[in-house]
This record gives sequence, C-alpha cells and structure tokens, in this order.
Amino acid sequence: MNWGPTRTAPDMLTFDPEGMTSAQRDGEACVVCYKRWPRPRARVGRFPDDTTAMACADCAEALVPAPLATVVAFPTR
Ligand SMILES: [Zn+2]
Repeated sequence: MNWGPTRTAPDMLTFDPEGMTSAQRDGEACVVCYKRWPRPRARVGRFPDDTTAMACADCAEALVPAPLATVVAFPTR
C-alpha cells in the first residue's frame, strides 16, 4: 500500500459502477446506501474511469475506518 505524504485519504478502493445509479457515479449519492442528502462528502475510492466515489460519513467509516483518524499516532511494534 502506498501511503502518500499528503493527508488525503488514499484512493485504494475501486468501485464497480455496474448497477449504480447515475447519481452515485457522479458522486452525488453515497455509493453504499444511495443516500443523496446530506450530500456524501467522504472520498472512499474511485471508479475504473477515474471518477471519485463518494460515500456518506457513516458508510465511509465502515469502508475505510483508519484514514478518518489520521491524527492518531501509528502504533509501534
Ligand atoms: Zn452511505
């Protein structure tokens, strides 16, 4: 996994747009639960055509729990 120097969430998930609504593919609806309001604001990944996949806060937390709390120090082993 390539964690870049920026604090943006890594776009590591690729979503299959097959079966999704146009709103989901345009990032106007959550890719997980179809919710359009409040507007999904979490970038959880991208589609094969490089479009950003958006999800609401709840779903984003379930999909990518770690990047939302990057302030926490990395655990040492
Ligand atoms: Zn959602």
